Amino acid sequence: MSQTAQAEPRTATRQKIYCANCKNCKLVPSPVDDDTRYVLRVRCAAGKWRKRLGDEKLYKYFTVIRRSMDECDSYEPMGDEDEFLQDLKRNLPINDEVYG
Ligand code: SF4
Repeated sequence: MSQTAQAEPRTATRQKIYCANCKNCKLVPSPVDDDTRYVLRVRCAAGKWRKRLGDEKLYKYFTVIRRSMDECDSYEPMGDEDEFLQDLKRNLPINDEVYG
C-alpha cells in the first residue's frame, strides 16, 4: 500500500505586508546641499532594510507605498490597512520634493 503526498492547496494566497502601515516605518528628514533644505526619506526602525553590504537602506518618501514584504517578524500594523493606504496614496507627493 503506498501513501500519496497531500498537495498544497493552490488557492491559498498570502497577503502582502505593506511597510507603510507598520509602526517601524519612520519618516525622516535628510539634509541636502547646505543643510538648510531637506528631502523626506523613510527608514525601517527595526533595521530590516539593508543594502547588500549591510548598511541601512533608506527610501524616498514618495515611494513608500511600494515598500512591501512577503513576511516580517517585526511587522506592527497601525490599524485598518485599506483605509490607511488609500489616504496615503491620495496624499503622497508624486516625486522627491525638497523642503526648506
Ligand atoms: S518592521 Fe518589517 S513591515 Fe515594518 S517597516 Fe520594517 S520591514 Fe516593513
